[in-house]
Amino acid sequence: MDLKDYKIGTLGSHSSLQILKGARDEGFRNIIICEKGRSQPYRSYRIADEIIEIDSFKDIVKLEQRLIDENVILVPHGSFFSAYTDLSALNASNALYFGNKKILPWEENREKQRDWLKKAGLKLPKIYKTPEEIDGPVIIKFFGAGGGKGFFLAKNPAEFYKKIKETENKRHIIQEYIVGAPIYVHYFYSPLSGELEVMSMDKRYETNVDSIGRISAKDQLDLNIESSYNIMGNIPVVIREKFLPDLFSMGERVIEVSQELEPGGLIGPFCLETIITPEMEIYVFEISARIVAGTNPYINGSPYADLRYDVPMSTGRRVALEIKEAIESNQLEKVLG
Ligand code: AMP
Ligand code: AMP
Repeated sequence: MDLKDYKIGTLGSHSSLQILKGARDEGFRNIIICEKGRSQPYRSYRIADEIIEIDSFKDIVKLEQRLIDENVILVPHGSFFSAYTDLSALNASNALYFGNKKILPWEENREKQRDWLKKAGLKLPKIYKTPEEIDGPVIIKFFGAGGGKGFFLAKNPAEFYKKIKETENKRHIIQEYIVGAPIYVHYFYSPLSGELEVMSMDKRYETNVDSIGRISAKDQLDLNIESSYNIMGNIPVVIREKFLPDLFSMGERVIEVSQELEPGGLIGPFCLETIITPEMEIYVFEISARIVAGTNPYINGSPYADLRYDVPMSTGRRVALEIKEAIESNQLEKVLG
């Protein structure tokens, strides 16, 4: 089988534009699955070979046989969590899937994720086991990919109890709040070459924390404004060059440990979400084990990808390139899971 026998497909949201364009640029036909009434961008940008509309992403299971018959390789991104609300549904799918599904539980479960990152020797914010231990700024996070929705800050047990009541005691963790520069590092690991690449970096544009500085401290207090971390967009970042060697070795250790955790380990794109303190310490507070939307500013390539590639290499295109090389060298099973 060659390239013409496969299609690259994904869900219409999150980072799908670059996945579609990247597939085309590498010579694949592509296919986009949209929720009804939400396909206009894919038509307008003339980026999709086929558009399928379904009532809700959850109905993707009804398309399963078609995806299998047409050899569609699905490239997962953040919106897959709204299609497959639990991992068992995703595992039950027999459609071709780029990446290693065995790694997903290590990302989804916050305790397992922490074990993984700790084993890789990364510096993590402290976790408070009980609210009584809160002795400085903490951030309270809920489970599941909600894009920071509902997270809140506290600095002592009383404040924690007051605010958690308003959330009806949703499942959460209490994490040390690190004051520093947030930088999200986008990696790509190729199981074909065994090489790790740093593709790009971003910082987030979150409402309302990124606009609170426009209001004076006095007004913030008078208006009783609470910080929130709802993601709205992404802003490109390049890091001081002296940090790059550290970022490479952090990513390499994450890959090595992933291979100890599960056969095959992590495959393809992933992101380490870091905060760098004034003391130059790099804290990692989360890993995303797939393409992140922070790569969207780089559909046309990034300062880092441009160093290595002669063509504009987005992360979406890098995924398609890996699939292409796997097909051409008869190793497709190495990149699917
Ligand atoms: P969406 O299809 O935009 O709702 O994305 C699905 C999930 O991916 C969201 O719930 C967020 O957790 C995450 N996400 C979406 N867009 C971004 C972004 N620009 N940066 C970081 N995370 C995002
Ligand atoms: P998350 O959904 O885990 O990516 O977190 C959403 C946002 O909360 C991040 O983009 C940061 O702005 C902020 N944040 C998360 N964890 C921490 C932390 N430990 N210290 C400081 N800020 C954090």
